[in-house]
Parts: sequence; structure tokens; C-alpha cells
Amino acid sequence: MTDPVLILGGTGEARALARRLVDTDVPVVSSLAGRVRDPALPVGEVRIGGFGGVAGLTGWLAEHRPVAVVDATHPFAQQISRNAAAATADAGVPLLALRRPEWRREPGDDWIDVADIHAAAAEVGRRSRRAFLTTGRQDVGAFAAQADTWFLIRVVDPPTAELPPRHELLRSRGPYDVAGERELIDRYRIDHLVTKNSGGSMTSAKLTAARDAGVPVVMVRRPALPEGVTSVDSVAAAADWIDQLR
Ligand code: NAP
Repeated sequence: MTDPVLILGGTGEARALARRLVDTDVPVVSSLAGRVRDPALPVGEVRIGGFGGVAGLTGWLAEHRPVAVVDATHPFAQQISRNAAAATADAGVPLLALRRPEWRREPGDDWIDVADIHAAAAEVGRRSRRAFLTTGRQDVGAFAAQADTWFLIRVVDPPTAELPPRHELLRSRGPYDVAGERELIDRYRIDHLVTKNSGGSMTSAKLTAARDAGVPVVMVRRPALPEGVTSVDSVAAAADWIDQLR
């Protein structure tokens, strides 16, 4: 195979897939949005920055003629997944979505499931006086109007959106462990954890710590994939799918 596989990335799974394909002599181009200041880079060729909507991505596919596109973006990165579905259909390029499994409730968990980030903010306003917000930099703005809640806001890079009036910003990058997460919950007297259902092991320690501490979790459900897109939940399955295209 000489034509590359385009991996839409920004996740650990995308980097693991790039590694696996490069190791088996399948050329890859990994694409990153360029949001994070100091991103972990995958092996192989990397391009950074938006394509310019569906038209831009369709043009890129026509020019570079990848054998396939793997959408290994974060489960909550909805726009790029929609664009990938439309552009690959236009360009006649096979598309696979790689999505890590969702987190599932375990015995002892107290989860409040909500449909989106705005519903999470409303729920927090109703229930929480001291919330641990781990939904990521781009979603912090949804909580800006929650003046009655104090927030511990954990982010990789500083948010640019308006922040809720009472908060402390904690800058760090996972992975995290249960003892460290429990320490934060106790030190800041957290009464609710707020998270998107991202899945994966890098950031799941907070769920165990919340369970152990008896702290309820406001859990934002994942958006659906665009209609008709085939998906797998492991890097191995994505590599098999690519293998079958050869
Ligand atoms: P988004 O809302 O779905 O996409 C917004 C725009 O960003 C897209 O229309 C596209 O611009 C560009 N873009 C997104 N991902 C891209 C990629 N891999 N390569 C090139 N352009 C990309 O995305 P988002 O939620 O802002 O996430 C941006 C990136 O951060 C994604 O790659 C995602 O995997 C990663 N990430 C997101 C989250 C999250 O919670 N959303 C968490 C961790 C990591 P054009 O229209 O100009 O092509």
C-alpha cells in the first residue's frame, strides 16, 4: 500500500493507530486540529490545522487520495466527524470511526446522566455548591452563569471563554490516579464531579474516586456518530479494517 491512511486525531487511540500502521509499513498522515499548545505528536507524517469545512476536507482528499480515513477524534468532537462523513461520501473514500468504549456505571456509582453540556450546567446550578469541572477548556463557558457554585476547573491549556465568577483553575494533563483524584475531592470539599463520557483509562480515576467518596457525577452523554458511519472501539479492530482494504 503506497497511498496513505488519513487519521483524524487528537486522541491516544489515534496515536496508537498511527504507531501500529507505521510499524506494519502502512503510510499514514495524522491530522490534528492544532488546539493544544504542546500536543503529543503521533509517529509518521503529521499535518496541523483545520481543513476548511467539508469543502476543504473534500479538496484535501482529492489531492492526497488516501486509501481510507479513520476518524479517531475525541467522541465529543462532533463537527469534524460530521465533516468527515460528508467529505468522504463526496470523495468516495472509505471511512471508519474509532471510538473508545464509553464508561459504564458500576455498583456504588451515583451518576446523573445529561444530554449535553448545557443540561450539565443547569444540573450543577440546581445541585452543587462545590463542583469539580473536568469537561475540558472548550466547554467551560457553559458554566459561566452559575454564580452560586464554586468550581475547581481542571484544564490542559487556559480557557479563553468567560468563566464562572467563583473558581480555581487547575492546569494539568492526565493520566491521573485514584489517590490523587480523591485528594482533590477531599481538599476542595467537592460535592459533585462534572465530566463528559469520554471513556478510556487516562482520566477514569476520577470516577473511582467519586464513587469511593460518595460524590455524585454529572455525566454528559456522548453525541451520536453521523448516520451510516461504521465504527469500531479498538485500535486492533481499526487496523484489521484497514488490512482488509489492501
Ligand atoms: P470539532 O468541534 O469537532 O471541530 C471543529 C473544527 O476543528 C473542525 O470543523 C475542523 O476545522 C477542526 N478540526 C477538528 N479536529 C480536527 C483534526 N483532527 N484535524 C484537522 N482539523 C480538525 O472539534 P473539537 O471538539 O474542537 O476538537 C478539536 C480536536 O481536539 C479534535 O481533533 C479532537 O480529537 C481533540 N479533542 C477534543 C476534545 C473534546 O472534548 N471536544 C477532547 C480531547 C481532544 P475545519 O472545518 O476547518 O476542517
